[in-house]
Amino acid sequence: MANFADEHPVKAFGWAARDTSGHLSPFNFSRRYSFSFFTIQRQQQHVYIFNQHLLVLVERATGEKDVRIKVLYCGICHTDIQNATNGWGGSTYPVVPGHEVVGEVTEVGSKVEKVKAGDKVGVGYILGSCRSCDDCSSDLESYCPQQKLTCGSVYYDGTLTFGGYSDTLVADEHFVIRWPENLPLDAGAPLLCAGITTYSPLKHFGLDKPGMHIGVVGLGGLGHVAVKFAKAFGTKVTVISTSLAKKQEAIEHLGADSFLVSRNPEEMQAAAGTMDGILDTVSAAHPLLPLLMLLKSHGKLVLVGVPTKALELPVYPLVQGRRVIGGSGTGGMKETQEMIDFAAENNIVADVEVVPMEYVNTAYERLEKADVRYRFVLDIGNTLTKSA
Ligand code: NAP
Ligand code: ZN
Repeated sequence: MANFADEHPVKAFGWAARDTSGHLSPFNFSRRYSFSFFTIQRQQQHVYIFNQHLLVLVERATGEKDVRIKVLYCGICHTDIQNATNGWGGSTYPVVPGHEVVGEVTEVGSKVEKVKAGDKVGVGYILGSCRSCDDCSSDLESYCPQQKLTCGSVYYDGTLTFGGYSDTLVADEHFVIRWPENLPLDAGAPLLCAGITTYSPLKHFGLDKPGMHIGVVGLGGLGHVAVKFAKAFGTKVTVISTSLAKKQEAIEHLGADSFLVSRNPEEMQAAAGTMDGILDTVSAAHPLLPLLMLLKSHGKLVLVGVPTKALELPVYPLVQGRRVIGGSGTGGMKETQEMIDFAAENNIVADVEVVPMEYVNTAYERLEKADVRYRFVLDIGNTLTKSA
């Protein structure tokens, strides 16, 4: 295995999974950096002779457009468990999960314009994209075929990306979100994934019109934020859940208008044909037919949850009534900033349980059992210590 601690000058510390058990433990590694010539500022220097010129190559911690961030909080998304356990395949170990990262800028490159040292910022699921394809040109970096994820991608310089369960992070300014002053850092962190992943499809599929009836399936991290955005858009919201125990809170606290227990056929039948759209955030395999039957003609079922097993596709309810099934993955940087600003204006944050770094393995176990109201957030700034 490569020695991740010695490769680069930006030393970092975090927690990583080393194998498919997904168990996380302390991990020393290093962050990417970029080279710049003739800038004798810091770090190690290498001297080269090229065309009779003396070249001083300086390994800088931060490239021209890079922002270095001290991580303060990081949400725990269900996707982190898939990354840590190789649930979807493709994980490269060690895996440092975390893509709902909020922190403070500690250093900026010479050409950074968006933020300055001391600013609060966020980094979500996307850490890089080609910036020139059709998707990037349409502000949809999240669909760029060459996108780089905050966790588990091979970055353009060949280094593996490590996520936000760590003390420091380096990101190109394009992929950094400016943090509104009035938005709490801990409860706001989950918006960087759960928020944009639900806001974006509600907007894109036209499910944001006042008076519409929207279903939200799965009242977890994504689902509870979806309820808040859908209510802020002025729609009528029904939560569709396996957990009857969440009913009272969904209505009284989250502001849902009604609640269906998805495993209760009578309740589901009584609501048939009433919804304009449904956002499905469920992380496990589940039947789609009962959900499709809830839709009106032309209704849309949008999948954002990503179960590890393929779902069965019932065709008749699509043909009968021109119902549509679609999907949506996180969101572009412009829309993510728009969503964060909208959340700040409308006082939308996640309901969070803030936990110390060393609680992460227990948090994963509880998340698997849908035992969290509704998002764990790691208090990285106060609890990530090398002695952990
Ligand atoms: P989460 O907090 O665990 O919420 C998932 C919810 O699904 C649970 O709270 C539970 O809600 C419901 N559920 C769980 N198991 C179920 C089962 N067997 N049958 C029916 N319902 C079940 O997870 P999350 O962080 O919100 O993430 C949800 C999914 O979205 C994950 O698959 C994640 O990987 C994916 N995701 C996708 C994107 C994207 O870009 N599309 C972004 C982030 C996450 P109830 O108790 O209410 O039933
Ligand atoms: Zn996520």
